[in-house]
Amino acid sequence: MEKKIPYKIYLHEDEIPTQWYNVRADMKNKPAPLISPADGHPLTVEEMNPIFCEELNRQELDNDTAWFDIPEPVQEFYKMYRPSPLVRAYFLERALGTPAKIYYKFEGNNTSGSHKLNSSIAQAYYAKAQGLKGVTTETGAGQWGTALSMACAYFGLDCKVFMVKVSYEQKPFRREVMRTYGATVTPSPSQTTEVGRKILADHPGTSGSLGCAISEAVETAVKTPGYRYVLGSVLNQVVLHQSIIGLETQAALKKYGIKPDIIIGCAGGGSNLGGFAAPFFGDMLRGEADYHIIGVEPASCPSFTRGKFAYDFCDTGMICPLAKMYTLGSQFIPSANHAGGLRFHGISPILAQLYHDGLFEARTVEQTPVFEAAEQFARTEGILPAPESSHAIRVAIDEALKCKLTGEEKTIVFNLTGTGYFDLKAYEQYNDGTMTDIIPSDEAIAESLAKLPKVGNQ
Ligand SMILES: *Cc1c(COP(=O)(O)O)cnc(C)c1O
Repeated sequence: MEKKIPYKIYLHEDEIPTQWYNVRADMKNKPAPLISPADGHPLTVEEMNPIFCEELNRQELDNDTAWFDIPEPVQEFYKMYRPSPLVRAYFLERALGTPAKIYYKFEGNNTSGSHKLNSSIAQAYYAKAQGLKGVTTETGAGQWGTALSMACAYFGLDCKVFMVKVSYEQKPFRREVMRTYGATVTPSPSQTTEVGRKILADHPGTSGSLGCAISEAVETAVKTPGYRYVLGSVLNQVVLHQSIIGLETQAALKKYGIKPDIIIGCAGGGSNLGGFAAPFFGDMLRGEADYHIIGVEPASCPSFTRGKFAYDFCDTGMICPLAKMYTLGSQFIPSANHAGGLRFHGISPILAQLYHDGLFEARTVEQTPVFEAAEQFARTEGILPAPESSHAIRVAIDEALKCKLTGEEKTIVFNLTGTGYFDLKAYEQYNDGTMTDIIPSDEAIAESLAKLPKVGNQ
């Protein structure tokens, strides 16, 4: 008998997963390894240890262990803001007049305002367990820097954040949240690093970029005793930690015998999509179920749909290891769009391989229709969504409207990664009707891809 589905499906505290799921264990074609930019050899844990935390390096390179125990202190922290609710979007369904059933997993219910805390707390834990004094990182839009400073405050670690200068100046409130949690926030490029001084000398007055902030954070970690560099997306370890989202979603759906048809996540570096969809990919890879999984990216930064499956740098400064991903080229600068968290030129190697193998669809959406979806969602479901998350809302609404035409009662589940309180400049432009959609030309992408590093046979 079908149980009545409540508005919110909460798991009980003791139903929060105690292990993360590593989808790589079920992949027949494993993601390509990180390689050295110098000679293209696959990096070992030992070679990565001077830059990144040891245990995280082991997780990064482990393609075989399916389940990783979540350390007790991380499980405790998760209880502060997890389980996150799986919400039946009854009000949105009613407004759309669709026979589809729409659910969203809401990851914005913590002060950092996004899913990034799921990984930052794990990374801070391993840094502390290794006896480090602190960590360095970069932040663009600010969500990752905020999530990491919260995690570092909890474990008593120092946190040095290089914040892209334009965001530092335009998002003073994010900066103050980070400082309140004890982080040092430096506008990038800065005079504090060699690479920063060089960039400033070459490009006086530059407003910075994510790639440049990464280069500064890495240099600082390598040169400061007791520090390592941590990253909030793209890497396999981050997708592993974010599997908590998908595992909770699957557990909540199972409670009510709900079988999803369509699974949707926005894609920046790929960590929320990868983690949210991980257990569903697992079902597909093991031949136990089939789903229509959709990754949604901005038309201004279309890595999956217009990028190349190739080895590339993760940073503009070209000092990080090379990862094989769908990339627009590490020198590609997307036009100034508002989905700051979706502006990375590449994508998680795990998702890149799964996409290459045809396990999911990637779709691009333009900025104005994304904000139309955000507005409709805010007015019906009450939550002010992050612009990044609103990419997934757009496609969820589009799929629900298709069901309205066909009469199909599909079950759609999407990940609502965060809230939009710090993105009110974007909402202002939308409300004023001054928002623009800038899509890169084929020439611009080709020009950027021509600069891919020459490794192996690419
Ligand atoms: C960072 C961010 C994203 C995109 O990052 P992924 O690694 O692709 O998940 C999406 N939504 C929000 C709210 C973010 O902060």
